[in-house]
Amino acid sequence: MALIVQKFGGTSVGTVDRIREVAKKVIEYRSDGHDLVVVVSAMSGETNRLLGLANELHDHPRGREVDVLLSTGEQVTIALLCLALEQMGMPATSYTGPQVRILTDNSHNKARIMRIDDEKIRADLSAGKVVVVAGFQGCDELGNITTLGRGGSDTTAVALAAALKADECQIYTDVDGVYTTDPRVVPEARRLDRITFEEMLEMASLGAKVLQIRSVEFASKYNVPLRVLSSFTEGGGTLITSEEASMEQALISGIAFNRDEAKLTIEGVPDQPGVAAKILGPIASQNIEVDMIIQNIGHDSTTDFTFTVHRNDFQTAMSILQ
Ligand code: ADP
Ligand code: ASP
Ligand code: MG
Repeated sequence: MALIVQKFGGTSVGTVDRIREVAKKVIEYRSDGHDLVVVVSAMSGETNRLLGLANELHDHPRGREVDVLLSTGEQVTIALLCLALEQMGMPATSYTGPQVRILTDNSHNKARIMRIDDEKIRADLSAGKVVVVAGFQGCDELGNITTLGRGGSDTTAVALAAALKADECQIYTDVDGVYTTDPRVVPEARRLDRITFEEMLEMASLGAKVLQIRSVEFASKYNVPLRVLSSFTEGGGTLITSEEASMEQALISGIAFNRDEAKLTIEGVPDQPGVAAKILGPIASQNIEVDMIIQNIGHDSTTDFTFTVHRNDFQTAMSILQ
């Protein structure tokens, strides 16, 4: 008997019928004798819909209230999935992130998980229940709701798998594994049976949104066996694991791209050691990830310094620079 953490993304729980299908899949695994912790995303489109409402009322909605708003999406799906399971005779309990107590730092909209209390989950599993946890959210020391950044349910699942020392973390999504590039853009892309954490980290950091980058970092750090599979078709998906001798031969594993980069250039900065840290330190301290950095060749002791951040972080990065 194994302990498995399964995560179902937005499309997989996008309608009531699909939630029923997820419940059936969960029950199948349960009837094989496995303990199951299920993490769900909000119904597809819901997080964007909520953000749209916020945008109607505020020029740059960010911070605490956005987290209160966005976390409701996943609260809907945990309850619906538990109701579907109950209807099929399977006892299940839902928890929001704060109810589990997924403790995060207080960096709203992109919080990092610090600790997970596992007592309630373990007690429910011992009582034979399926545990359903809301992805993408937690709370800070003061109990404020926080969210983990777009795609953050992947990270919830991997973090739970690490905390519970699960045998495998299965990420169910709308493609049947990790491909050499986004199969929706390049139909000829090939599915990979296996990929290393390092390779997946590179692809995720360069824009392959099939897994949130932090989930891959977590899985690599705690050595959580991670598998990406389809919610809709059968198959073994893609296993993401530590390096193996046979895998070292691949020169190129895949190609990733990102349409959401914003580029900032500061012209004429002093061309001397320490300047990059002076510019990027305050950016990093706001938890903004810098994706690319270019420092040009200096002229007359000055140079141009360019870096890119996610489009959503542009305004904040700009204000910091100013
Ligand atoms: P979920 O809602 O299940 O979390 P996402 O939309 O976040 O699903 O991630 C799955 C999507 O990732 C796929 O539909 C696909 O378009 C995209 N994707 C980007 N790069 C890759 C890749 N290399 N392999 C597979 N999918 C990819
Ligand atoms: N619902 C959140 C989002 O759309 C989290 C997730 O789906 O992983 O980003
Ligand atoms: Mg996702």
